[in-house]
Amino acid sequence: MLGNMMFQPLLISSLIEHAARYHGDTPVISKNTDGTITKTDWTHISENAKRLANALRGLGLNSADRVATIAWNNHRHLEAWYAISGSGMVCHTINPRLFPEQLIFIINDAQDRVVLFDKTFLPLIKGVKAHTPNVEHFIYLGAFDQDVADAIPEVKFYDALIAENSADFDWPEIDELSASSLCYTSGTTGNPKGALYTHRSTILHTYAISLPDSLNLSSRDIMLPVVPMFHVNAWGTPYAAAMVGATMVLPGPGLDGASLVQLIDEFKVTVALGVPTIWQGLLTAAKQAGSKLDSLKRNIVGGSACPPAMMATFKNDYDCETIHAWGMTETSPLGSSNQLKAKHATLSEQDRFKVRLSQGRPPFGVNLRITDQENGTHELERDGHTTGNLQIKGHWIINQYLGKSSSALTSDGWFDTGDIASLDQDGYLTLSDRSKDLIKSGGEWISSVELENIAMGHPQIAMAAAIAAHHPKWDERPVIIAIKAPDSEITEQALLDYFADKVAKWQIPDKVIFVDSIPLTGTGKMLKRDLREQFGNVLLS
Ligand code: AMP
Repeated sequence: MLGNMMFQPLLISSLIEHAARYHGDTPVISKNTDGTITKTDWTHISENAKRLANALRGLGLNSADRVATIAWNNHRHLEAWYAISGSGMVCHTINPRLFPEQLIFIINDAQDRVVLFDKTFLPLIKGVKAHTPNVEHFIYLGAFDQDVADAIPEVKFYDALIAENSADFDWPEIDELSASSLCYTSGTTGNPKGALYTHRSTILHTYAISLPDSLNLSSRDIMLPVVPMFHVNAWGTPYAAAMVGATMVLPGPGLDGASLVQLIDEFKVTVALGVPTIWQGLLTAAKQAGSKLDSLKRNIVGGSACPPAMMATFKNDYDCETIHAWGMTETSPLGSSNQLKAKHATLSEQDRFKVRLSQGRPPFGVNLRITDQENGTHELERDGHTTGNLQIKGHWIINQYLGKSSSALTSDGWFDTGDIASLDQDGYLTLSDRSKDLIKSGGEWISSVELENIAMGHPQIAMAAAIAAHHPKWDERPVIIAIKAPDSEITEQALLDYFADKVAKWQIPDKVIFVDSIPLTGTGKMLKRDLREQFGNVLLS
């Protein structure tokens, strides 16, 4: 027997409708590509989204057509992605830091019909344009600009399209399982693969990330997503901001520490989100500027492991609570986030800090398990110690990559993440590594993340990566590649000595190499594959 309640499809358009109706005057503050600030609100974001939806229809686009964006986090980008997904098209956010060949590959693979872009990426567009024959329209996210018109004569200007089109547009009622947006995995090997989200998966994910035990979002928040909208939809925060009616502060291209400190202090940001390398820059800049980041109540760290020293600095020096979260492109992304339970209140401060360091536990809607082999089905114990291949299942988890005919899942329907982790009885997840980054010394595994966390805990180290270097006797041994903190005179021996009481003797790295910079992926993670290529043989000579 069926129940008697209304059915409404879960659609992204309902988020922007809700924000406009109930939080219309809530600000959206946006740093433009030229450094100026635009102050708008959810009413105007919604109106412009409808104008752009009319413009896209006018250009002959239909439901399910792919529309790409290559843009920073700013108000036009926000309007565009509600326009695209809301009207039933697929919003393909492109990571501009990909190599040009990868960019061409994904634009063609996605069959994008339109590309919207910010001025920063004009040279990129000029370079790839000849190789993307399916793209019919390029739309520049701004007012008329002579440089842009000279470079791409057929270009259309976003501001002109907005001015010419009406804000009367009825969002179509489509199937909630329709595709809404598309992100490609960073793809450190082979071509990137597309994760195609649905309206339903997005809305359920949005509810889940907003919960108190997730990111604890509300209409009282002033949210700064430093994580780019092209990195798994800024972890879903622009959707959540509309759902809860939060103020947004969109940082544009200024992702350096000093720019972020200025935005946080000027607009009284309460919650900010980003990868650890962003926070490293922010902490250095806050110290230099003498800012206490007074308004910032919490920051969300994900994408790479949060170094314990960083979490302690946020808490002790800035009274800011760090929420450590884990996820990936294929998981929308939130798979877990770290909030304490009632029973942790009685723990000592030190033990509570230990719990806070893990990647947290899954919200309702996803399930985690560890197995004895990659894509395996034999589940291992949730004892907080045993490590295995982390797998996930749930409402916002991929089942198949775009254009692939085969399933991405194990034979019993789980997605294998490629991460190695332990789970405890409460589901707290501790990641030890990506399976390909683990260091295998004489048959024993060493976690590169653990060694990095220790190295980065040294006050004279700014950033550190632990990699496996080939070794004639032990097969692989750990080597640390590190950047010294400004003015530091630390020696290799001093850093190696620092490990002595923190790990077993055989896990102490064999060598430290100091460098001026560490290559980062397009999403700000250390590119350990490149470091392995460059330094993988240092122990052989
Ligand atoms: P991406 O799809 O580019 O977001 O990358 C996802 C991968 O980033 C995961 O599979 C993890 O290896 C890594 N990752 C994400 N969050 C964390 C975290 N909190 N700690 C450690 N690694 C993480």
